[in-house]
Amino acid sequence: METDELIKALNAALADEWLAHYQYWVGSKVINGPLKDEVIDELEEHSNDELRHAGILADLIIDLGGTPLLTPNEWFQASGCGYDIPSDPSSAVILEQNIKGEQCAIDTYSALIKAISVTDSLSIEILQEILDDEIEHKEDLESLLDSL
Ligand code: FE
Ligand code: FE
Ligand code: MG
Repeated sequence: METDELIKALNAALADEWLAHYQYWVGSKVINGPLKDEVIDELEEHSNDELRHAGILADLIIDLGGTPLLTPNEWFQASGCGYDIPSDPSSAVILEQNIKGEQCAIDTYSALIKAISVTDSLSIEILQEILDDEIEHKEDLESLLDSL
């Protein structure tokens, strides 16, 4: 994978992270239903993690000589995972929407890690750490959904 192509893929992941950050954040505000307080704690934690991931990706893009997306107008166009509107505030639906988002993030980072040249071990290491977080996010949401 050429550097230009990698930067483009990292910007797509950056857009995903911002949208995931907001989906968790606003979901934690509107949610209503069983285990509300426990679910809010988890959504807030994940929201903070996604924002941290966005920062890591922006730093990596700059280190590679690229520019992180400069306006939110670009997020929907660039994003691979998109955004699920939390219009139904029930705990189960919010959790299911975010599980779907985490599965998309896992697929995206797994594919990207495979596509990166083995000589770029730093990018691989950084993306692997984010991927490990996304796997944990999905597991945490699934166990909450199971306990509803
Ligand atoms: Fe993330
Ligand atoms: Fe996540
Ligand atoms: Mg968690």
